[in-house]
Amino acid sequence: MVESGRIDHGHHAGNAYRALDETIALADAVTVALERTSPADTLIVVTADHSHTLTISGYPKRGNPIPGLVVGAVGEEKAGTEPARDLTGRPYTTLNYANGPGYTGASNLQPEGAKKFPHQPKSYEGITRGRPDLSSVEVTSPEHLEEAAIALGTETHGGEDVGIWARGPGAAAFHGTQEQSFVYHAMAQALGWN
Ligand SMILES: [Zn+2]
Repeated sequence: MVESGRIDHGHHAGNAYRALDETIALADAVTVALERTSPADTLIVVTADHSHTLTISGYPKRGNPIPGLVVGAVGEEKAGTEPARDLTGRPYTTLNYANGPGYTGASNLQPEGAKKFPHQPKSYEGITRGRPDLSSVEVTSPEHLEEAAIALGTETHGGEDVGIWARGPGAAAFHGTQEQSFVYHAMAQALGWN
């Protein structure tokens, strides 16, 4: 069994870079497992135990860096050249969190504006100057914290359904929407247990 628990830690820190970097590490581990086993005798199941509040939003053009500012696709004003702007005239990133330590008001640890890892504040003040102007912020830095709408010291889990993928004996059972307890029963069946 491989648990990529640091994906969770990156999200709790409000830091999409670390969460995504750890997701790549999980993909590498799954690749090794696929290479070293045969689908004829080994069931491999990949899933998550919950989601987080990270969202992918806007209409960034194909190939736009995922942690970067949204640079618009066809149909957007200044498509493909300039960052898209919100209605206050400020650019925004494709990735954002619904809550967490990326809230841009002043905390007891960092001043008002975009936040940097590590940041686990104990208290916050409200945003007084609107959203930060991200055109002067290195948003693709591993330390950048995506903006969060609600001020929390640590970002929370989310409530969406999560994906599940499988290869090997019994893999055909993993499809559609299932309760999480189903995973155990499908694995037990693949093992030939009663
Ligand atoms: Zn967690």
